[in-house]
Amino acid sequence: MGLVMSYAADLHTHSRFAMGTSRSLDFGALVRGAKTKGIDLLATADFTHPVWIEETRAALSETPDGLLALDGVSFILGTEVNCTAQQGGRGRRVHVLLFAPNLGAVDAINARLASSGSLEGDGRPTLRLSPRDLLAAALDVDERCFVIPAHLWTPWFGLYGAKSGFDSLEECFGDLTGRVHAVESGLSADPAMCWRVPSLDGVSIVSFSDAHSPGRMGRELTVFRGEPSYDGLRAALARQQIEYTVELFPEEGKYHHSGHRKCGVRLSPAAAARSGGRCPKCGRPTTKGVLQRVEELSARPAEADVDGAGLIRSRSGRPPFRRMASLGQIVSEALECGPTAKRATAAYAALVSHFGSELAVLLDAPEGEIAPLAGERVAQGISRVRNGDLTIEPGYDGVYGSVTIWPGR
Ligand SMILES: [Zn+2]
Ligand SMILES: [Zn+2]
Repeated sequence: MGLVMSYAADLHTHSRFAMGTSRSLDFGALVRGAKTKGIDLLATADFTHPVWIEETRAALSETPDGLLALDGVSFILGTEVNCTAQQGGRGRRVHVLLFAPNLGAVDAINARLASSGSLEGDGRPTLRLSPRDLLAAALDVDERCFVIPAHLWTPWFGLYGAKSGFDSLEECFGDLTGRVHAVESGLSADPAMCWRVPSLDGVSIVSFSDAHSPGRMGRELTVFRGEPSYDGLRAALARQQIEYTVELFPEEGKYHHSGHRKCGVRLSPAAAARSGGRCPKCGRPTTKGVLQRVEELSARPAEADVDGAGLIRSRSGRPPFRRMASLGQIVSEALECGPTAKRATAAYAALVSHFGSELAVLLDAPEGEIAPLAGERVAQGISRVRNGDLTIEPGYDGVYGSVTIWPGR
């Protein structure tokens, strides 16, 4: 057909059965969230959980393209697993996203994984299994299964994390490294940070929300190019067919800088290096942030340029990305009220219904059309976020960073 299609995907989501998630996360909420945010393809999430997979089976219908559907939203069977195993003489804990082409494969995978840990408690199960052995077990069930290491850089649970991760994909996946085609940058990192690491040159850098409540769906996402099907997505990952990813400012993440939360000490990579991994206040070990970890594993400086459309582009032709804040935050800051105040929800609803989705408002809505619907100040806020004209406090050691559009209030 030669028609180039693109679709927005959020493939790291959760159900209400994963630890720490909202009780309201059912398929109704996921579908409403996808439509409001502008997400075309969602992960079904938590497919190892016995109750949730039954809800999945009952609510969604499998389609011939290897996906599932509900009310015009497409889903892919996907889950997150906490892999804990000794590798290379060290205990490792790594979160991995796992995807399967049909419900039959999911049943077979779940039957195998049940011997490695409990699937009944947490929707993101902790298994005594290395990421390599998880991938091997899935491939043994169906060759089309694939994995994406989740939030690659976070100190705990990231494959490149400082606490219990690895220094390379090879060290983790060994003989199966060639089967890993993508990594998730995570909230505390962005693609430009990943471009600095040569061992990631051959893999797609993707971004998803890791939403624990419906409002956070799509806060980061990936717009893929190609056929929106299970095999189309696999091909897009293998060939880096990505239009762009949408990223929060990585400083907002909980582990961007290094530091010590108890003492309120935040350290840039340079300051962390000077302090020798110890808190300058109390002398305890600091938590190494994502930026410091990138410095350790990178081999070249950051090389990125912003083009006329606001896309941040690498000089070596990697897929670009855009930085964003949530529309709810922009509206609430602009109108100086809480995000659930009537004025804020009315402005939000007016914009989303006019432009079709939150993503369309944030990325594509002409500034001149925003003001008549939601006011001059909201229009100004969106344009400030698009231009990166913001005040940013980096997160560290589990403390979220903050992005403020109008400082000094
Ligand atoms: Zn995780
Ligand atoms: Zn301290």
